[in-house]
Amino acid sequence: MNDCLFCKIIDGKIPSKKVYEDEHTYAFDDINPQAPTHVLVVPKKHVRGLKEAAAEDAQLIGYCQLAAANIARQRNIEDGYRTVLNVGPRAGQSVFHLHVHLLGGRNLQWPPG
Ligand code: AMP
Ligand code: ZN
Repeated sequence: MNDCLFCKIIDGKIPSKKVYEDEHTYAFDDINPQAPTHVLVVPKKHVRGLKEAAAEDAQLIGYCQLAAANIARQRNIEDGYRTVLNVGPRAGQSVFHLHVHLLGGRNLQWPPG
């Protein structure tokens, strides 16, 4: 999609610190990290967000979650991490290309703010 920040990152038009990439997903460090590990995992296909996702996107969303789990294992943060999908502006979604936040490397509070 033309005017999407994360599509531009996936295409290499905007620089990012790549963590992982495969056929379906691209993962990179969040520019404003909220934890020692704060990685964004995005599907290469532009999907606006979870509420806009269709049944055909189910596997893609699962891929993103499993990519996050693999990164957490590699980073040795399996004693506690969180994968988060912010949905809609009241939940803090600011980029409208679906992304899974992987947060870890510190104690995480519950419930999140
Ligand atoms: P959300 O608020 O859930 O939509 O998450 C968007 C995330 O994208 C935020 O955590 C931002 O810090 C992050 N972000 C925004 N621009 C960039 C960028 N150019 N590179 C990496 N992360 C970014
Ligand atoms: Zn996009």
